Amino acid sequence: MSSVRTTTPLVRILGAGIIGLSCAEELSRRGYDVEVVDPAPGSGASYAAAGMLSPHAEVWHGEPEILGLGRRSLALWPAYAGRLGVSLHTAGTVLAGLDSGDLQEIERQFALADGSGRARPLDRRELRDLEPGLGERLAGGVLLPEDWSVDPRALLRALLARTTVRARPSGRAAATTVLATGARLPAEAGGLVESVRGVRGEILRVRSTDPPLHTVRGWVRGEQVYLVPRADGEVVVGATTEEHEAPAAVTAGGVLRLLAAARELWPALERAEFVEATARDRPGTPDNLPLVGPAGTPGVVLAAGHFRHGVLLAPLTAVLVADHLDHDHVEAALDPRRFSVRISEGDTP
Ligand SMILES: Cc1cc2nc3c(=O)[nH]c(=O)nc-3n(C[C@H](O)[C@H](O)[C@H](O)COP(=O)(O)OP(=O)(O)OC[C@H]3O[C@@H](n4cnc5c(N)ncnc54)[C@H](O)[C@@H]3O)c2cc1C
Repeated sequence: MSSVRTTTPLVRILGAGIIGLSCAEELSRRGYDVEVVDPAPGSGASYAAAGMLSPHAEVWHGEPEILGLGRRSLALWPAYAGRLGVSLHTAGTVLAGLDSGDLQEIERQFALADGSGRARPLDRRELRDLEPGLGERLAGGVLLPEDWSVDPRALLRALLARTTVRARPSGRAAATTVLATGARLPAEAGGLVESVRGVRGEILRVRSTDPPLHTVRGWVRGEQVYLVPRADGEVVVGATTEEHEAPAAVTAGGVLRLLAAARELWPALERAEFVEATARDRPGTPDNLPLVGPAGTPGVVLAAGHFRHGVLLAPLTAVLVADHLDHDHVEAALDPRRFSVRISEGDTP
């Protein structure tokens, strides 16, 4: 009598950034046989990211869907970080505006973000009591206690420590290939290759003995800048946004703009040690929402296009990819085929 061999079908994940590695972690937990492939693990946008887990402040960018997705993902973060042994910075986020126009913008965002009921407007004095290092000329702000942060490089280290990453695919046949390649989709994405594009972001790292206590997201005469403190005195100052074809490079103009705006917000920047300037491409999509689910080609699943929110949305994305493999679940708003439909309609003579 021949014996019946049960084998777990192989899931191959292309891309070892925060998204691919988070998918690998969740799929491994659910018992899948996972192979992760990346010639340069952890070197993409995830390496540059500030690590804000900040769904409420993101309505700032006019993206209300991200609020709902971000809240769902944020709820997964404490257990996710706990499993990986990574700390969360949970002091909250302060929105701060320099002049009355900036404050108006913040008040508008406050109205949009106040769904949790925990956001709190701050007058000039309350703002400086809460965050004494901020400049004296600030007009006021808002406290978002539920907008946290994490150090993405610590997260990458923790994920890479538990994942074997191959530079090239093994010869084994994969039942499913998950494309998590960041700002460039490979040929396996078929008609969706063009639906992700690189949107350049420049970001700085400084070290200070006097860092902000919260994440600070500022408006400085209309210019947006943020400061994200880490436990060791590092402060991340970000970020520029530019559509670009050329390879990611830091520009003097980008650094100047970030430093000038950040100094008005946080005068102690003058004394901080300059550590690093980095540029990477965010994976942008036409509607600024990620592509998570079937690519439309059998056996190919996308986990891509997370734009400004890949760190925030990593645990939710991992759960959605695993749910798709488990029982075909697809979140309508994130279904990658929303773009392939348009492409084929456009192609119709
Ligand atoms: C300046 C900046 C600040 C940001 N700040 C935040 C923030 O505060 N909060 C937040 O939530 N998000 C933030 N983001 C966005 C976030 O960084 C991204 O959404 C997220 O990192 C995307 O992760 P990823 O794994 O999809 O892509 P990546 O991190 O780019 O990883 C993709 C990986 O795929 C590999 N790869 C490419 N092609 C192939 C291939 N053909 N085969 C195998 N591997 C391949 C690459 O080597 C790379 O390692 C920021 C981004 C930038 C640039």
